[in-house]
Amino acid sequence: MHLFNELTNYQQPSEEGYYGQYGGAYIPEMLYSNVETLKTQYLQIMDDPAFKAEVEALLKDYVGRPTPLFYAERLSAEIGAKIYLKREDLCHTGAHKINNTVGQIILAQRLGKKKIIAETGAGQHGVATATVCALKGMECVVYMGEKDIERQAPNVARMKMLGATVVPAKSGSKTLKDATNEAIRAWINEPDTTHYIIGSVVGPHPYPDMVARFQSVISAEMRTQLEAVTGSPLPTHVVACVGGGSNAAGAFYHYLNEPTVELIAVEAAGHGVHSGMSAATTQLGSAGILHGSKSIVMQTKDGQVVEPHSISAGLDYPGIGPLHAFLYESKRGTFMSATDEAALKWAFHLSEIEGIIPALETAHAFAVLPEMNLKPTDVVIVCLSGRGDKDLATYMQAMDMKS
Ligand SMILES: *Cc1c(COP(=O)(O)O)cnc(C)c1O
Repeated sequence: MHLFNELTNYQQPSEEGYYGQYGGAYIPEMLYSNVETLKTQYLQIMDDPAFKAEVEALLKDYVGRPTPLFYAERLSAEIGAKIYLKREDLCHTGAHKINNTVGQIILAQRLGKKKIIAETGAGQHGVATATVCALKGMECVVYMGEKDIERQAPNVARMKMLGATVVPAKSGSKTLKDATNEAIRAWINEPDTTHYIIGSVVGPHPYPDMVARFQSVISAEMRTQLEAVTGSPLPTHVVACVGGGSNAAGAFYHYLNEPTVELIAVEAAGHGVHSGMSAATTQLGSAGILHGSKSIVMQTKDGQVVEPHSISAGLDYPGIGPLHAFLYESKRGTFMSATDEAALKWAFHLSEIEGIIPALETAHAFAVLPEMNLKPTDVVIVCLSGRGDKDLATYMQAMDMKS
């Protein structure tokens, strides 16, 4: 098993975009030249000092970085370990997604693109994309599942207010997977003028690596911030929820090659991993190709994608990025899951004990803390990927049911 030895550099896929057996670019011929251009140019562009300066200035003055690393005192006392929260919920637009869209919009400008398309689940990536398009005066079309348009109404309104066109995806489960299919189809129709801003570490190479690099600012800041308060940049654990895996990739990135740091990825178990209503991809999936790359996919024996379920639109996806598939297979990452019910419970609990209303996606990451057998000396960073404003309708329903 030479792929899994200690020397593996998880931060760098192969030339063709593989992490172990996962990754690559499985795309229709119409997209070859587009993806090839991106593949040959993204590292060069991202390495250019002028590009870096432009991205860094926007991250600071527009997004509001660095986001704080907050010591959660009451939560720490309850769990019995030192727990720090990386506050991505405080980013402009309310989640980590904008770290990536800021980078990609400037990259799209460098590539001479005139129009942006994107897919979205919870609407956070759609809002982050519509936001940077407004900022840069670019046309923006966002594909979103019909079911998600209903359950994330505030984000749909925000995208429209920001000048984006929101196109409903009406096939399949009418959620993120279907929106992604529609976005890829639209891209095939006008590949030359359009840049597709994928919102997670999924899709054909170079997207998973490119998005991970844009999100890696999260763990770059964590190292400096943790060192300032504890004297060491290294926590014992980093915990993040995983839909496609971008906030997790960003939170793990600068710890991937630090073997003492345990990386905990939390998937959505829906009604329960084996209930038939779940999105716990690593527990239920097998190697397959979805949305342009080889990864772990929830599928039937003959390769039909299984419809996922999660209460949180952002985790309601039958795949994970190839980096995460490799972290799972090589055991560098520990994959856990949380049910809809546990996530809801933790959304309320975190609100009550820390005064922070998290996104439903994010609440999944907190739900596993009691199951981690933590010690008082453990130092845990939880990636607080987003805030809960978009989920208030779901939270209000839950309160009605309780009362
Ligand atoms: C989109 C989203 C997620 C899931 O996406 P990843 O790519 O797995 O990070 C998690 N949390 C929030 C708040 C989101 O908006």
